[in-house]
Amino acid sequence: MSDMLEKIPEFVDFGKATKTADDEELERVYLRENNYLAVIGYKTLEDFARFTSSEDLSIDTIEYAGKDRVYFTGLKRRAVYRRASEAILREYTSDYSCATPDHQCMNCYNCYTYGGTNLVKGETKSIRSRMKMTTSYSIQSSIDAVVDEDEFHIMVHRDLEMSQEEGEQEKGSIHTITLIKPNTVFPFIDIIFNPTKFDLAMYLETIERGDAEGYGSKGSLLGTMSTEILGVVDNLDVTHRDLLDAIKVKDDGKVDASEAEKLIDESISKEEVENLKDELPELIEKYKEKIYPDLE
Ligand SMILES: [Zn+2]
Repeated sequence: MSDMLEKIPEFVDFGKATKTADDEELERVYLRENNYLAVIGYKTLEDFARFTSSEDLSIDTIEYAGKDRVYFTGLKRRAVYRRASEAILREYTSDYSCATPDHQCMNCYNCYTYGGTNLVKGETKSIRSRMKMTTSYSIQSSIDAVVDEDEFHIMVHRDLEMSQEEGEQEKGSIHTITLIKPNTVFPFIDIIFNPTKFDLAMYLETIERGDAEGYGSKGSLLGTMSTEILGVVDNLDVTHRDLLDAIKVKDDGKVDASEAEKLIDESISKEEVENLKDELPELIEKYKEKIYPDLE
């Protein structure tokens, strides 16, 4: 086991009351600690996607690190992860009823990990998220990442065949719909504050589910992805700009991340995180009273 992994607790009960230096009683989650891990990797679109925050459904692009790129917000990623993590926990205990966004219990593992604000026992309780997903930018320029007119035409044609009755007037709005192409690559940096081994095990299972569900618009089933983790570090020395420079996408769509791997020195390896994920069922069993404290 790497030194870095050895230093991390297996599980922390963030709902447990603790005493501060001033002898004040406080739940652990409110203690200020500046202790984090950054998961560095890249995601590849397996499917078309639409990452948009505007009403006309245009793709979110921004000039960053020398070119116009598609961006993929950390908030979008976190929202998908939270739902996936909730689904995993429900699989182990069917009585688990915490649900985002309307029924957050503010007392389970997911709430102590992804945060929230809710009225509990007559008072408002708010928990800050321990998960900070930073916004990702495409390696490819937006011109290369967004479908061009010919491909677009083929896709629209396919769409029309499925959705339009014969003789129906062509839908005007469909012309404004553009999509991000499969094989678009997004390096990412996800930060876990006050991390535990259990967090890492859950994180890996969670991103696999999130990737299979997709990050497209709700219910569209668009935007499935695959994730490669390059390493888990305890600093922010490697930046998005470094990753955008170092990761190369070859003409055949294959990703060469060998230069990016060299940027990461001491880290918890992907294999170590995978080993933790394999222990997830035992860990959930071991800590279930703390993961789901509201269950009988
Ligand atoms: Zn909850």
